[in-house]
Amino acid sequence: MRPLVPPFIETLKPYVPGKPIEETEREYGISGVIKLASNENPLGPSPKAVEAMRKAVDQVHLYPDGASYYLVNALARHLGFPVEQVFVGSGSNEIIELLVRTFVTPEDDTLLCAGSFLMYKVALQAHGRPFREVPMKAGYRYDLEAMAKAITPRTRLIFLANPDNPTGTAFGKAELDAFVAKVPPDCFVVHDEAYFEYCDLPDYPNGLEYVRKSPNVIAMRTFAKAYGLAGVRVGYAVMDSKLVGYLNRTRMPFNLTSLAQVAGVAALEDAEHVRRTVTLTQQELRKLEAALPKLGVDVPRSYTNFVFVDFKRPAQPIYEALLRKGIITRPVPGYGFPNALRISVGLPEQNDRLISALKEILA
Ligand SMILES: *Cc1c(COP(=O)(O)O)cnc(C)c1O
Repeated sequence: MRPLVPPFIETLKPYVPGKPIEETEREYGISGVIKLASNENPLGPSPKAVEAMRKAVDQVHLYPDGASYYLVNALARHLGFPVEQVFVGSGSNEIIELLVRTFVTPEDDTLLCAGSFLMYKVALQAHGRPFREVPMKAGYRYDLEAMAKAITPRTRLIFLANPDNPTGTAFGKAELDAFVAKVPPDCFVVHDEAYFEYCDLPDYPNGLEYVRKSPNVIAMRTFAKAYGLAGVRVGYAVMDSKLVGYLNRTRMPFNLTSLAQVAGVAALEDAEHVRRTVTLTQQELRKLEAALPKLGVDVPRSYTNFVFVDFKRPAQPIYEALLRKGIITRPVPGYGFPNALRISVGLPEQNDRLISALKEILA
């Protein structure tokens, strides 16, 4: 009998998401559990997005607009790009999948940074597309020089998470300029800006400016983080219109639900909600970055809404001790960091609770 699946599926490790609150409360017999595991917005969604979804819910017997017309137009206006250059997906995860399926063949090669966002690898492997991983450099940082050296004539697609998940580090314009200059025109660079709104690196490269200059650069963002819409799945990417045309051929006809479309439009209009979110997050991030190193752990400066805490010893027991205290964080062994936890910035009282819990556990 033939194997049920090809070898690349047999060896595929599923993506492990953050543990849900209800499951943790049931397993540990506790209540008041907080989740600092998936980089969600602790202030919740924009009330305007909630109201828009409420109004749209009566119409869910109808198929959604397959073109996501209003959302694409709102984004195009907001970003200052023609609508032909804007593509929306059911989360940026769908866009990652589509880029892999549409532009990479099994004969091509792709490049990733080892230890960076796992979904790139999962999407590539799930489709039997080859990939090579270039190690990070000191400080948990992308090594763009080494990545540029690793490019071959077969390299078709390169994923860059900037800021990075799970390390929270970021690289600047000079590094990206030098990198993009070395990438051949038939190789695509995906600049994943999932934490764009949070990033306060002074020379942070806005991917949109690169898209204007280079037809092989794709800038990707999401409504899942600062916009607080992780549960409805809305992401978008800006790229050359020819590429958008191909993605529109390979995507599912109704890839965004009607609720996701109206939520995205409304959230985009609520700039105040994003501002409030970013202000609170950065304030709390500085608090965590000041408090945690005093406990003897290594915390690189974060440009996101989470901290990467390197305990310099196995993190699994610390993760479990935190669970017993009702705090869900995110172990990252699958990324190659068995000694670290990724911890999302929560509300002030949640972060205080995390700091005291870690103090007790590490004492
Ligand atoms: C959270 C995240 C995404 C967003 O995923 P969605 O599918 O939009 O929820 C994309 N890239 C990185 C690096 C992320 O951390």
